[in-house]
Amino acid sequence: MPATLIDGKAFAARVRSQVADHVTRLKSEHGITPGLAVVLVGEDPASQVYVRSKGKQTVEVGMKSVEHKLDVDTSEADLLAVIDQLNNDPEIHGILVQLPLPEHLDEDLVINSIAPEKDVDGFHISNVGLLGTGQKSMVPCTPLGCLMMLRDHHGSILGMDAVVVGRSNIVGKPMAQLLLGDSCTVTIAHSRTKDLPDVVRRADIVVAAVGRPEMIPGDWIKPGATVIDVGINRLDAPERGEGKTRLVGDVQFESCAEVAGAITPVPGGVGPMTIACLLANTVTACCRANGLAEPEGLTA
Ligand code: NDP
Repeated sequence: MPATLIDGKAFAARVRSQVADHVTRLKSEHGITPGLAVVLVGEDPASQVYVRSKGKQTVEVGMKSVEHKLDVDTSEADLLAVIDQLNNDPEIHGILVQLPLPEHLDEDLVINSIAPEKDVDGFHISNVGLLGTGQKSMVPCTPLGCLMMLRDHHGSILGMDAVVVGRSNIVGKPMAQLLLGDSCTVTIAHSRTKDLPDVVRRADIVVAAVGRPEMIPGDWIKPGATVIDVGINRLDAPERGEGKTRLVGDVQFESCAEVAGAITPVPGGVGPMTIACLLANTVTACCRANGLAEPEGLTA
Protein backbone atom coordinates (compact mmCIF):
# COMPACT_ATOMS: atom_id res chain seq x y z
CA MET A 1 0.00 0.00 0.00
CA PRO A 2 2.00 3.04 -1.14
CA ALA A 3 -0.50 5.63 0.22
CA THR A 4 0.08 7.25 3.60
CA LEU A 5 -2.66 6.32 6.03
CA ILE A 6 -4.35 9.36 7.58
CA ASP A 7 -5.15 8.11 11.07
CA GLY A 8 -8.38 9.80 12.15
CA LYS A 9 -8.46 7.99 15.46
CA ALA A 10 -5.07 9.36 16.52
CA PHE A 11 -5.90 12.82 15.13
CA ALA A 12 -9.22 12.88 17.01
CA ALA A 13 -7.38 12.02 20.24
CA ARG A 14 -5.09 15.02 19.61
CA VAL A 15 -8.08 17.31 19.03
CA ARG A 16 -9.77 16.07 22.22
CA SER A 17 -6.60 16.70 24.16
CA GLN A 18 -6.39 20.27 22.79
CA VAL A 19 -10.04 20.77 23.74
CA ALA A 20 -9.40 19.38 27.24
CA ASP A 21 -6.44 21.78 27.71
CA HIS A 22 -8.60 24.72 26.69
CA VAL A 23 -11.41 23.62 29.01
CA THR A 24 -8.93 23.45 31.89
CA ARG A 25 -7.81 27.03 31.13
CA LEU A 26 -11.40 28.29 30.86
CA LYS A 27 -12.17 26.80 34.26
CA SER A 28 -9.03 27.95 36.07
CA GLU A 29 -8.63 31.42 34.52
CA HIS A 30 -12.28 32.40 34.01
CA GLY A 31 -14.37 30.06 36.17
CA ILE A 32 -16.30 28.93 33.09
CA THR A 33 -17.21 25.32 32.25
CA PRO A 34 -18.35 24.80 28.64
CA GLY A 35 -21.67 22.92 28.47
CA LEU A 36 -23.10 20.76 25.70
CA ALA A 37 -26.76 19.66 25.61
CA VAL A 38 -27.86 16.78 23.41
CA VAL A 39 -31.55 16.27 22.70
CA LEU A 40 -32.71 12.82 21.59
CA VAL A 41 -36.31 12.17 20.55
CA GLY A 42 -37.32 8.49 20.43
CA GLU A 43 -35.31 5.33 20.81
CA ASP A 44 -33.53 4.77 17.49
CA PRO A 45 -30.73 2.36 18.50
CA ALA A 46 -28.01 4.00 16.34
CA SER A 47 -28.93 7.46 17.67
CA GLN A 48 -28.79 6.15 21.25
CA VAL A 49 -25.25 4.85 20.65
CA TYR A 50 -24.15 8.22 19.18
CA VAL A 51 -25.71 10.19 22.04
CA ARG A 52 -24.08 7.97 24.68
CA SER A 53 -20.71 8.33 22.99
CA LYS A 54 -21.08 12.12 22.72
CA GLY A 55 -22.03 12.41 26.41
CA LYS A 56 -19.08 10.24 27.49
CA GLN A 57 -16.52 12.18 25.44
CA THR A 58 -17.97 15.52 26.59
CA VAL A 59 -17.39 14.57 30.21
CA GLU A 60 -13.92 13.16 29.44
CA VAL A 61 -12.70 16.55 28.17
CA GLY A 62 -14.02 18.23 31.33
CA MET A 63 -17.14 19.83 29.92
CA LYS A 64 -20.66 19.74 31.33
CA SER A 65 -22.89 17.25 29.50
CA VAL A 66 -26.69 17.45 29.58
CA GLU A 67 -28.94 14.91 27.89
CA HIS A 68 -32.65 15.37 27.20
CA LYS A 69 -34.29 12.10 26.21
CA LEU A 70 -37.82 12.66 24.97
CA ASP A 71 -40.56 10.18 24.05
CA VAL A 72 -40.93 9.26 20.39
CA ASP A 73 -44.37 10.93 20.33
CA THR A 74 -43.18 14.23 21.86
CA SER A 75 -45.06 17.12 20.26
CA GLU A 76 -43.28 19.80 18.26
CA ALA A 77 -44.35 22.41 20.85
CA ASP A 78 -42.81 20.41 23.69
CA LEU A 79 -39.56 19.88 21.78
CA LEU A 80 -39.37 23.59 20.91
CA ALA A 81 -39.93 24.42 24.60
CA VAL A 82 -36.92 22.27 25.57
CA ILE A 83 -34.78 24.01 22.95
CA ASP A 84 -36.00 27.42 24.13
CA GLN A 85 -35.02 26.59 27.70
CA LEU A 86 -31.53 25.49 26.53
CA ASN A 87 -31.19 28.61 24.36
CA ASN A 88 -31.69 30.68 27.51
CA ASP A 89 -29.49 28.60 29.81
CA PRO A 90 -26.18 30.46 30.36
CA GLU A 91 -24.43 27.21 31.37
CA ILE A 92 -25.17 25.63 27.97
CA HIS A 93 -22.95 26.77 25.08
CA GLY A 94 -23.76 24.06 22.54
CA ILE A 95 -27.06 22.41 21.62
CA LEU A 96 -27.35 19.39 19.37
CA VAL A 97 -30.63 17.79 18.33
CA GLN A 98 -29.87 14.22 17.27
CA LEU A 99 -31.11 13.51 13.74
CA PRO A 100 -33.11 11.94 12.23
CA LEU A 101 -36.21 13.12 14.11
CA PRO A 102 -39.46 11.14 14.10
CA GLU A 103 -41.54 11.91 11.01
CA HIS A 104 -44.17 14.10 12.72
CA LEU A 105 -41.49 16.67 13.63
CA ASP A 106 -40.33 19.32 11.13
CA GLU A 107 -36.53 18.96 11.11
CA ASP A 108 -35.85 22.37 9.53
CA LEU A 109 -38.14 24.16 11.98
CA VAL A 110 -36.53 22.41 14.94
CA ILE A 111 -32.93 23.06 13.82
CA ASN A 112 -33.69 26.70 13.05
CA SER A 113 -35.13 27.18 16.54
CA ILE A 114 -31.68 26.58 18.08
CA ALA A 115 -29.87 29.85 18.86
CA PRO A 116 -27.34 30.07 15.96
CA GLU A 117 -24.44 30.79 18.31
CA LYS A 118 -25.22 27.53 20.19
CA ASP A 119 -25.79 25.48 17.00
CA VAL A 120 -22.68 23.29 17.33
CA ASP A 121 -23.82 21.06 14.45
CA GLY A 122 -23.68 24.11 12.14
CA PHE A 123 -27.01 23.22 10.49
CA HIS A 124 -28.96 26.42 11.35
CA ILE A 125 -29.77 28.42 8.24
CA SER A 126 -27.83 31.42 9.64
CA ASN A 127 -24.68 29.34 10.00
CA VAL A 128 -25.16 27.90 6.51
CA GLY A 129 -25.38 31.45 5.15
CA LEU A 130 -22.39 32.68 7.16
CA LEU A 131 -20.25 29.77 5.94
CA GLY A 132 -21.40 30.35 2.35
CA THR A 133 -20.37 33.99 2.53
CA GLY A 134 -17.02 33.28 4.17
CA GLN A 135 -17.99 34.73 7.55
CA LYS A 136 -17.36 33.36 11.04
CA SER A 137 -19.89 30.60 11.69
CA MET A 138 -20.41 27.30 13.46
CA VAL A 139 -19.09 24.74 10.96
CA PRO A 140 -20.67 21.27 10.51
CA CYS A 141 -18.56 18.72 12.39
CA THR A 142 -17.86 16.07 9.74
CA PRO A 143 -16.63 18.47 7.02
CA LEU A 144 -14.65 20.39 9.67
CA GLY A 145 -12.93 17.14 10.64
CA CYS A 146 -12.09 16.45 6.97
CA LEU A 147 -10.67 19.95 6.55
CA MET A 148 -8.51 19.59 9.67
CA MET A 149 -7.06 16.31 8.37
CA LEU A 150 -6.34 17.85 4.95
CA ARG A 151 -4.64 20.90 6.47
CA ASP A 152 -2.63 18.69 8.79
CA HIS A 153 -1.49 16.41 5.99
CA HIS A 154 -0.75 19.05 3.34
CA GLY A 155 0.00 22.20 5.31
CA SER A 156 -1.73 24.27 2.64
CA ILE A 157 -4.30 23.02 0.11
CA LEU A 158 -4.39 26.34 -1.77
CA GLY A 159 -4.85 25.91 -5.52
CA MET A 160 -5.49 22.18 -5.39
CA ASP A 161 -8.26 20.59 -7.49
CA ALA A 162 -10.84 19.11 -5.11
CA VAL A 163 -13.80 16.93 -6.05
CA VAL A 164 -16.53 16.34 -3.48
CA VAL A 165 -18.77 13.43 -4.41
CA GLY A 166 -22.14 14.07 -2.72
CA ARG A 167 -24.14 17.27 -2.27
CA SER A 168 -25.96 16.76 1.04
CA ASN A 169 -26.53 19.71 3.35
CA ILE A 170 -24.67 18.05 6.20
CA VAL A 171 -21.55 16.86 4.37
CA GLY A 172 -21.14 17.57 0.64
CA LYS A 173 -22.17 21.23 0.41
CA PRO A 174 -20.41 22.49 3.57
CA MET A 175 -17.32 20.46 2.62
CA ALA A 176 -17.22 22.21 -0.75
CA GLN A 177 -17.57 25.62 0.97
CA LEU A 178 -14.69 24.85 3.32
CA LEU A 179 -12.43 23.71 0.48
CA LEU A 180 -13.32 26.87 -1.43
CA GLY A 181 -12.52 28.88 1.71
CA ASP A 182 -9.04 27.33 1.65
CA SER A 183 -8.72 28.32 -2.05
CA CYS A 184 -9.12 24.92 -3.68
CA THR A 185 -10.73 24.73 -7.11
CA VAL A 186 -13.85 22.79 -6.19
CA THR A 187 -16.15 20.51 -8.16
CA ILE A 188 -19.25 19.03 -6.52
CA ALA A 189 -20.37 15.75 -8.10
CA HIS A 190 -23.67 13.95 -7.45
CA SER A 191 -25.94 11.25 -8.82
CA ARG A 192 -26.58 13.16 -12.06
CA THR A 193 -22.94 13.98 -12.78
CA LYS A 194 -21.82 12.87 -16.25
CA ASP A 195 -18.58 10.86 -16.57
CA LEU A 196 -18.05 10.69 -12.82
CA PRO A 197 -14.84 8.60 -13.17
CA ASP A 198 -13.28 11.32 -15.34
CA VAL A 199 -14.36 14.05 -12.93
CA VAL A 200 -12.84 12.18 -9.98
CA ARG A 201 -9.63 11.47 -11.96
CA ARG A 202 -8.94 15.23 -12.18
CA ALA A 203 -8.84 15.64 -8.41
CA ASP A 204 -5.83 16.24 -6.19
CA ILE A 205 -8.29 15.82 -3.29
CA VAL A 206 -11.29 13.47 -3.41
CA VAL A 207 -13.90 13.65 -0.66
CA ALA A 208 -16.38 10.78 -0.98
CA ALA A 209 -19.70 11.36 0.82
CA VAL A 210 -22.16 9.22 -1.06
CA GLY A 211 -23.41 6.41 1.17
CA ARG A 212 -22.72 3.67 -1.43
CA PRO A 213 -20.36 0.93 -0.28
CA GLU A 214 -17.00 0.94 -2.08
CA MET A 215 -18.39 2.83 -5.06
CA ILE A 216 -15.11 4.54 -6.03
CA PRO A 217 -12.42 2.15 -7.36
CA GLY A 218 -8.68 2.79 -7.54
CA ASP A 219 -8.68 3.43 -11.29
CA TRP A 220 -10.76 6.59 -10.72
CA ILE A 221 -8.00 8.06 -8.54
CA LYS A 222 -5.25 10.32 -9.88
CA PRO A 223 -1.85 8.96 -8.79
CA GLY A 224 -0.76 10.71 -5.60
CA ALA A 225 -4.20 12.20 -4.81
CA THR A 226 -5.50 12.48 -1.24
CA VAL A 227 -8.67 10.47 -0.62
CA ILE A 228 -10.98 11.34 2.27
CA ASP A 229 -13.65 8.68 2.72
CA VAL A 230 -16.67 9.99 4.65
CA GLY A 231 -18.90 7.00 3.88
CA ILE A 232 -20.01 4.63 6.63
CA ASN A 233 -21.71 1.56 5.20
CA ARG A 234 -22.47 -1.65 7.07
CA LEU A 235 -22.16 -4.86 5.07
CA ASP A 236 -23.04 -8.42 6.11
CA ALA A 237 -19.90 -10.38 7.01
CA PRO A 238 -20.87 -14.04 7.37
CA GLU A 239 -17.14 -14.93 7.32
CA ARG A 240 -16.94 -13.31 10.78
CA GLY A 241 -19.79 -15.40 12.12
CA GLU A 242 -23.54 -15.50 11.92
CA GLY A 243 -25.23 -12.09 11.88
CA LYS A 244 -21.87 -10.26 11.91
CA THR A 245 -21.28 -7.10 9.89
CA ARG A 246 -18.31 -4.98 8.84
CA LEU A 247 -17.97 -1.29 8.05
CA VAL A 248 -16.77 -0.07 4.67
CA GLY A 249 -16.48 3.39 3.18
CA ASP A 250 -17.54 4.82 -0.16
CA VAL A 251 -14.16 4.03 -1.75
CA GLN A 252 -12.55 0.65 -2.42
CA PHE A 253 -9.81 0.99 0.16
CA GLU A 254 -7.31 -1.54 -1.17
CA SER A 255 -7.32 -0.44 -4.82
CA CYS A 256 -7.45 3.28 -3.97
CA ALA A 257 -4.58 2.94 -1.48
CA GLU A 258 -2.41 1.50 -4.28
CA VAL A 259 -2.75 4.73 -6.30
CA ALA A 260 -3.43 7.51 -3.79
CA GLY A 261 -0.79 9.57 -2.00
CA ALA A 262 -2.81 9.51 1.23
CA ILE A 263 -6.09 7.96 2.32
CA THR A 264 -8.39 7.74 5.34
CA PRO A 265 -9.51 4.27 6.42
CA VAL A 266 -13.02 3.18 7.42
CA PRO A 267 -13.37 2.71 10.31
CA GLY A 268 -10.79 4.94 12.00
CA GLY A 269 -10.73 7.84 9.54
CA VAL A 270 -13.34 10.58 9.33
CA GLY A 271 -15.72 8.93 11.85
CA PRO A 272 -13.76 9.64 15.07
CA MET A 273 -13.12 13.24 13.93
CA THR A 274 -16.84 14.06 13.92
CA ILE A 275 -17.39 13.91 17.70
CA ALA A 276 -13.97 15.50 18.32
CA CYS A 277 -15.09 18.45 16.18
CA LEU A 278 -18.39 18.64 18.06
CA LEU A 279 -16.38 19.13 21.27
CA ALA A 280 -14.15 21.65 19.49
CA ASN A 281 -17.23 23.57 18.30
CA THR A 282 -18.61 23.63 21.85
CA VAL A 283 -15.40 25.19 23.21
CA THR A 284 -15.40 27.67 20.33
CA ALA A 285 -19.04 28.59 21.06
CA CYS A 286 -18.24 29.00 24.76
CA CYS A 287 -15.30 31.32 24.01
CA ARG A 288 -17.38 33.42 21.61
CA ALA A 289 -20.25 33.66 24.14
CA ASN A 290 -17.82 35.00 26.74
CA GLY A 291 -15.84 37.30 24.45
CA LEU A 292 -12.67 35.22 24.90
CA ALA A 293 -10.01 34.22 22.37
CA GLU A 294 -10.91 31.05 20.48
CA PRO A 295 -8.59 28.05 20.61
CA GLU A 296 -6.30 27.98 17.59
CA GLY A 297 -6.60 25.25 14.96
CA LEU A 298 -9.97 24.00 16.15
CA THR A 299 -12.16 25.84 13.67
CA ALA A 300 -12.20 26.65 9.96
P1 NDP B 1 -26.98 11.70 1.57
O1 NDP B 1 -27.72 10.44 1.25
O2 NDP B 1 -27.71 12.81 2.21
O3 NDP B 1 -26.26 12.24 0.25
C1 NDP B 1 -25.61 11.38 -0.61
C2 NDP B 1 -25.13 12.14 -1.81
O4 NDP B 1 -24.49 11.22 -2.67
C3 NDP B 1 -26.24 12.82 -2.62
O5 NDP B 1 -25.86 14.13 -2.93
C4 NDP B 1 -26.34 11.95 -3.86
O6 NDP B 1 -26.65 12.67 -5.05
C5 NDP B 1 -24.95 11.42 -4.01
N1 NDP B 1 -24.97 10.15 -4.73
C6 NDP B 1 -25.77 9.07 -4.54
N2 NDP B 1 -25.50 8.12 -5.43
C7 NDP B 1 -24.52 8.60 -6.23
C8 NDP B 1 -23.83 8.08 -7.35
N3 NDP B 1 -24.09 6.87 -7.83
N4 NDP B 1 -22.90 8.85 -7.94
C9 NDP B 1 -22.63 10.07 -7.46
N5 NDP B 1 -23.25 10.62 -6.39
C10 NDP B 1 -24.19 9.88 -5.79
O7 NDP B 1 -25.76 11.22 2.48
P2 NDP B 1 -24.86 12.03 3.56
O8 NDP B 1 -24.16 13.14 2.90
O9 NDP B 1 -25.65 12.29 4.77
O10 NDP B 1 -23.81 10.89 3.93
C11 NDP B 1 -22.93 10.34 2.98
C12 NDP B 1 -22.16 9.20 3.62
O11 NDP B 1 -21.39 9.72 4.68
C13 NDP B 1 -23.01 8.10 4.25
O12 NDP B 1 -22.34 6.86 4.11
C14 NDP B 1 -23.07 8.47 5.71
O13 NDP B 1 -23.27 7.36 6.55
C15 NDP B 1 -21.69 9.04 5.89
N6 NDP B 1 -21.58 9.99 6.99
C16 NDP B 1 -20.52 9.84 7.83
C17 NDP B 1 -20.32 10.71 8.86
C18 NDP B 1 -19.13 10.52 9.74
O14 NDP B 1 -19.11 10.94 10.86
N7 NDP B 1 -18.05 9.92 9.23
C19 NDP B 1 -21.26 11.79 9.17
C20 NDP B 1 -22.29 11.95 8.16
C21 NDP B 1 -22.44 11.05 7.13
P3 NDP B 1 -28.08 13.38 -5.32
O15 NDP B 1 -28.07 14.62 -4.49
O16 NDP B 1 -28.05 13.64 -6.77
O17 NDP B 1 -29.11 12.38 -4.90
